[in-house]
Amino acid sequence: MNLDGLKAVSDADVSGKRVLVRGDLNVPMRGGKVSDATRLERVVPGLRDLAKRGAKVIVMSHFGRPKGQVNPEFSLQGLVADLAGLLGSPVAFADDCVGDPAAEVVAGMKDGDVTLLENLRFYPGEEANDPDFAGELAKLGDLFVSDAFSVSHRAHASTEAITHLLPSYAGPLMMEEINALRSALDAPTRPVAAVVGGAKVSTKIPVLTHMVTKVDKLIIGGGMANTFLQAQGYNVGKSLAEPDFKDTALEIIAAAKAANCEIVLPVDATIATEFKAGAENSVVDVADVPDDAMILDVGPKSVAHLSEVVKGCKTLLWNGPLGAFEIDPFGDGTFALAREAAALTKAGQLASVAGGGDTVAALNAAGVAGDFTYVSSAGGAFLEWLEGRELPGVAALAKNWANGKNGS
Ligand code: AMP
Repeated sequence: MNLDGLKAVSDADVSGKRVLVRGDLNVPMRGGKVSDATRLERVVPGLRDLAKRGAKVIVMSHFGRPKGQVNPEFSLQGLVADLAGLLGSPVAFADDCVGDPAAEVVAGMKDGDVTLLENLRFYPGEEANDPDFAGELAKLGDLFVSDAFSVSHRAHASTEAITHLLPSYAGPLMMEEINALRSALDAPTRPVAAVVGGAKVSTKIPVLTHMVTKVDKLIIGGGMANTFLQAQGYNVGKSLAEPDFKDTALEIIAAAKAANCEIVLPVDATIATEFKAGAENSVVDVADVPDDAMILDVGPKSVAHLSEVVKGCKTLLWNGPLGAFEIDPFGDGTFALAREAAALTKAGQLASVAGGGDTVAALNAAGVAGDFTYVSSAGGAFLEWLEGRELPGVAALAKNWANGKNGS
């Protein structure tokens, strides 16, 4: 992805301008309350900065899946108080994201004010990347800022089409994500290791295939390691594995060899016959897994070996747990390696970048998310970047400037 034309809004003159900001306010809710405010907390500093610099800040986002229809269940109005609380200043609400209701609220804004628009996905044009719908949105702003890396793998009207219509910039959260991923993947300090874990090989084939061309050491953990072990002739008993992907695993091993990338698999495993918390468990070498057992975590010898591998590297990318980390004690392997990576990062010996919902949950459970160099708030977009794919919502920001369309 050529990002030469990408411009940060921190370098733009925003004073007195109507700045239309695409955020990701799609926070999880429970019982009508925000159950995890991370996404709001992350987007707020960028909004506050724009307001302080005298912009009229107009925030737009999707929320849930209303499928192109107005549905009060998915109204963004319920987030106004949370957003205002985090900003420390009032937030106005426009009960439509386009048309007269939005135009009237925006017309009444003073410099430094913040307005939240109603859910973009109440209109089918949003997900259809409809230029006319983007045109309606663009009427509300003088500048466009995308600060929603986590939705930039989707070409939607508010992430892609709108960049054809307004001078477009990356917000601070977007810049942070891009810089972290570029420094870990495109121009890393070598040697670089990647941990790719999680349940299944089948969902991460493009990640594994791209990683072997990019990193020096590819650590494979979780259920997907079982498929690789099985492909190499080991018995994995009743473990989660995908025998149909044996050939895929062998192809990835061959591609790694050709690219001079070392694939690192577990050498021992924590096994149990039941998949439940506190299940009786034991540690065996991967060659000694009984027929009635499941591999649910990497064992202590593997943790020691993986720690040595990470210690020998300068950069680490992490997506996916090494075991069934939600169930005690099968998170021990993931937590131990996470603590090692965090300690090396704190000592200035490692740049560590992690992302993906389960990975963030595992790092939080290990208490080390704050010690990693960067933890991405994005799930799908983070994975697509690891797959080497162009993210339309990022590429559009750069292309727009590169071809001079947006009249800077
Ligand atoms: P993913 O969504 O592909 O990143 O997979 C994450 C899930 O994989 C988590 O819910 C883990 O509990 C699960 N997982 C990891 N290792 C294993 C394993 N050895 N056996 C069963 N599930 C696993």
